[in-house]
Amino acid sequence: MNDTLRIQKIEQKIARIKKELLDLGLLHPGSLSRQYNVCGKIGCRCKDPIKPRRHGPYYKVSYVHLGHATSRFVPPEKVREVRAQLANHKRLRKLIDAWGAYPSFWSKKNANPRLDFQPERFTLQQ
Ligand SMILES: [Zn+2]
Repeated sequence: MNDTLRIQKIEQKIARIKKELLDLGLLHPGSLSRQYNVCGKIGCRCKDPIKPRRHGPYYKVSYVHLGHATSRFVPPEKVREVRAQLANHKRLRKLIDAWGAYPSFWSKKNANPRLDFQPERFTLQQ
């Protein structure tokens, strides 16, 4: 493969990454967990000595915001939406990593182009 073709292939891959970034939709960092809780009220089903039944499920999304671990509860009717946003955020990170894997050798000022880079060997993980 000649250099011009190689550069064209890289540019096409970056163009696909950019398009996918634009189409991502809403994002939320972190991960979702499901919990069952014990309230502690005397006589409550969650304290039943024979067959305790905890309250829940409660859904919680945990993430790091400005360097601090944060979490918040997610109402059951929002779980599907939040899951989609979490998946979008993971995809965003992968797309950024994929884009960052390409060298910016097409700069005219770059005196040391990395034309040894082989875009066909790089595949974007789904
Ligand atoms: Zn209870």
